[in-house]
Amino acid sequence: MVSVFFSGCGFSSNGQKTEIDLKLDQKKFISTKKNVDNIQKKTVENHKSTSNKAKVLKKETAPVTKIVTSRQKTKKTKTVAKTETKNLFTADRGLKIKNDLVSWGYQKYNGTRKIDTIIIHSTYNPLGGGQYDFSKILAIYKKYKVSPHYLIERDGAIYRLVKENNIAYHAGISRVPDNRTNVNNFSIGIEMIGNKIDGYTKAQYNSVKKLINQIKSEYKIKYILGHKDIAPGRKTDPWNFDWKKIKK
Ligand SMILES: [Zn+2]
Repeated sequence: MVSVFFSGCGFSSNGQKTEIDLKLDQKKFISTKKNVDNIQKKTVENHKSTSNKAKVLKKETAPVTKIVTSRQKTKKTKTVAKTETKNLFTADRGLKIKNDLVSWGYQKYNGTRKIDTIIIHSTYNPLGGGQYDFSKILAIYKKYKVSPHYLIERDGAIYRLVKENNIAYHAGISRVPDNRTNVNNFSIGIEMIGNKIDGYTKAQYNSVKKLINQIKSEYKIKYILGHKDIAPGRKTDPWNFDWKKIKK
């Protein structure tokens, strides 16, 4: 669970719920040809039904399958959804991630943030009315002004709540093995939706593994740890997480 102890909170009250950054991080994107290939491959997969595969292949930003986030299901315009989709597939290099950027629980970072740690969390709604209810979990984050970068639902869907380059408030008071503290500053937080008993679905393991591999292709990652590893005595998540399933 994301920690409610967030120090130096630069909580932005003017962030827009549907903030969409159309400026791609071209530097990151172009640097890895493998990643580009992955996108192209994915783009083609999503255009199997079209006849002009060759043309599509050359377009990194070709509009692909329509993605609607849970909060957008209600009243987002078609235009926004399309723009977002375009952004998703270029920025995510083939991995389907649903943007549902929040306006709280993070601090904007100017420049390029140095990231070398991934923190795995687990979370659920203990307040009744659906323990795995995405919007209820989000409401809890909002209340405490915390958020991970990514949230993985029971069906394996990956949501991006905070952009990787921004500092998300997910770790709280924490320390990595090399004794650096304020882990939020140099980490990416991933929440797995799951209670203290159930463990996680195959789809969730599959998604988190892909997401970790993608992050590793982008940054030089030194640590992949659980929240309890960096805040022992204070945190116990991720509960029942099988680390073997994400190693290969
Ligand atoms: Zn946690």
